[in-house]
Amino acid sequence: MAKVLIIGAGGVGNVVAKKCTQAQEVFSEILLASRTKDKCDAIATSTNHPLLTTAQVDANKVNEMVALINDFGPDILINVALPYQDLPIMEACLETGVHYLDTANYEPPEEAKFEYKWQWDYHQRYKQAGIMAVLGCGFDPGVTGVFTAYALKHYFDEIHYLDIVDCNAGDHGHPFATNFNPEINIREITQKGKYYENSNWVEVDPFSVHRSINYPEIGSRESYLLYHEELESLVKHIPTIKRARFWMTFSESYLTHLRVLQNVGLTSIEPIEYEGKQIVPLQFLKAVLPIPSSLGENYQGKTSIGCHIRGVKDGKPRTYYIYNNCDHAEAYEEVGAQAVAYTTGVPAMLGAMLVLTGKWKGEGVFNVEQLDPDPFLAKLGKYGLEWHELINNSEEFVD
Ligand code: NDP
Repeated sequence: MAKVLIIGAGGVGNVVAKKCTQAQEVFSEILLASRTKDKCDAIATSTNHPLLTTAQVDANKVNEMVALINDFGPDILINVALPYQDLPIMEACLETGVHYLDTANYEPPEEAKFEYKWQWDYHQRYKQAGIMAVLGCGFDPGVTGVFTAYALKHYFDEIHYLDIVDCNAGDHGHPFATNFNPEINIREITQKGKYYENSNWVEVDPFSVHRSINYPEIGSRESYLLYHEELESLVKHIPTIKRARFWMTFSESYLTHLRVLQNVGLTSIEPIEYEGKQIVPLQFLKAVLPIPSSLGENYQGKTSIGCHIRGVKDGKPRTYYIYNNCDHAEAYEEVGAQAVAYTTGVPAMLGAMLVLTGKWKGEGVFNVEQLDPDPFLAKLGKYGLEWHELINNSEEFVD
């Protein structure tokens, strides 16, 4: 029986909190804290769970985080605030000796550049403190790293080619909306695309490389090459990988809206002066777009995220595809969230559970592919994300 502190009460925080209440045998007390306490209270009220309490905290302030942790005494902290808060929260966990888990890597607010360097730099200090940080334990990053580790453990001697494919075939009925925090999402997808090939990173213009990919139970969808953070850790931890790419689907309408917003300057993170005040255009855009956690109600269709892997086993070439499909309406029915928040929140809860039950053990900072994939995949379906695998499915294979 353990105490969990969840930071962040957005779309993902809602799912993590509700999923923790479904696993009371592990999470005996849950504190949900965020910048706006009302949002925590709304989640707690909809859950109506006696073990879930709420608090206000500014996670950018290490001293506030330390005070909150000391007051509650958690065994683990799940960070589902924004990537900007990763470092102050990691610092507070280090100071108080509490295990840490997140779903997105650190990004400095003033520059749209995400990488693991800043968080990996904590490794020695976490090790000395005898605590564990699990980085990127959502779906992508997260389950995609576990899928790859599982493939390596059970199906390959060497992995050579990895293509992570992420499709949202859902329809929320809005002309334009993002499925998670709009600011973080738009910063991510408007960057240059990047993939890894033969020990080098190859950069391409945003959305310039695309192809049709077939997704199970969905069909073919145009998919665009993006840079995604798990590529950095996967090629580091699985050095036989010769090429690693990430693909995401976008509709023509989404891309047209995005192009217009970019062309008029609304996706910029450079502050501008407006009526005597400094404002960041992208933050203003976030304020006028639908709140991602509100999209769930009429969302229809599925997400499909998986890994296409090619390599060798016993000297013979092999292909392998492992994936999950998640239905927006079913996720809404269960926890009042759309599938993108659901597929992020379930793995975060499950990763925390594995740390607390000793199935994932370590001192220092770890990405999920460094940990045993078996206990994770043994429980992922039970908590709502069934997964499937296809071996030597060459005609489906992304090449
Ligand atoms: P939201 O914007 O819906 O929620 C973020 C929450 O963090 C809000 O409750 C917000 O508070 C809170 N917050 C922001 N700043 C602070 C602060 N200084 N102190 C305390 N709380 C703060 O985001 P999502 O729920 O959509 O996403 C959460 C995280 O999950 C993000 O880091 C995102 O990148 C990640 N993610 C990961 C995915 C994966 O598969 N790995 C997929 C999708 C998302 P307030 O309400 O006051 O704004």
